[in-house]
Amino acid sequence: MIPPPQRAAEVASAPESPDEFETIERLFKPLTEGAPEAQGLNDDVAVLPARMGFDLVATKDAMVEGVHFLETDPLDLVARKLLRVNLSDLAAKGAEPYGYLLAVSWSKRCRWEEREAFAAGLAQDQKQFGIHLFGGDTTSTPGPLTCSLTAFGWVPHGRAVARGGARSGDLVLVSGAIGDGLLGLAAARGELSELEPARVEALAKRYRLPEPRVGMARLVRDNASASADVSDGLVADVGHIAEASGLKALINLEALPLSRAARAWLHKRVDQGQALLDLATGGDDYEIVCCARADRAETMIRAAQDHGDLTVVGHLVEGEGVAVSYMGDPIKFQRAGWRHR
Ligand code: ADP
Ligand code: MG
Repeated sequence: MIPPPQRAAEVASAPESPDEFETIERLFKPLTEGAPEAQGLNDDVAVLPARMGFDLVATKDAMVEGVHFLETDPLDLVARKLLRVNLSDLAAKGAEPYGYLLAVSWSKRCRWEEREAFAAGLAQDQKQFGIHLFGGDTTSTPGPLTCSLTAFGWVPHGRAVARGGARSGDLVLVSGAIGDGLLGLAAARGELSELEPARVEALAKRYRLPEPRVGMARLVRDNASASADVSDGLVADVGHIAEASGLKALINLEALPLSRAARAWLHKRVDQGQALLDLATGGDDYEIVCCARADRAETMIRAAQDHGDLTVVGHLVEGEGVAVSYMGDPIKFQRAGWRHR
């Protein structure tokens, strides 16, 4: 009997390029263990039961090879970054991770070994952040590897922290350190030879594997008036909060929290204000920027010591836009952050 055409194609291409169903069965199904919502990936859909007293928060971020990661980046790190950039959005809204849907378009470089690495990366971070795979879609492309993830999280009903809730007089706080995203990209491209190898390594690692502030979700939810994650660049993301809140943000660059590596980089710059501006408009930091009344901010700073520090970098006043200063002098800027065209 002549095999049906699809079967023949499967046999012809195995084992070098596994088909969609084999990939789903062997690599993605294990990632749904413990999540009945996924129905073992044996159905057309995932089924998410409603949860009384909670809102389901959803976010989606896509990553494209050559744009969001380098062609040489190992796929376990690519997958983990994809999950982490979405977890960062959930954390900024005060939501606890629940589950995710994954779409991946494999490119030519994605042989079985690379696909295994991709799934292994997801498995590792699922464990770390307490989240499960619910479903997705698998395709292939002659173009660059493209992957996109929709993450779901829970917040108590009505408590998701919006961008638009800030009040005049609120302080602007930022988690962790700012600028490692920008310097990390430079480091990963081999452009930071002026720094010690260990520092370059640390920066490149931060770029490839951001640390979403999942542990801060509760603190943000309980105290912040407005919040966003820092993905486009601090100035741009503060700008989003200011605009949504109908206020103006004032940012003091000298207050910017920096990693040791970023401080070493800054030390070698002639124009400190401009260099700090570069860090504050670079993007890819995946920290949380939020606003809070002074007393709430104090509570947050005290509590945040367990989860990656919070630092006050400015405040909000009546008006619109973002004004940036260094040591009291205004700093002009053209570009608040990264924009895709
Ligand atoms: P469709 O024919 O509707 O595209 P698929 O055959 O792509 O359905 O999907 C079959 C099952 O496998 C579904 O439950 C789907 O959610 C799951 N699935 C497919 N690709 C992925 C993926 N990349 N990650 C997780 N689940 C996936
Ligand atoms: Mg499909």
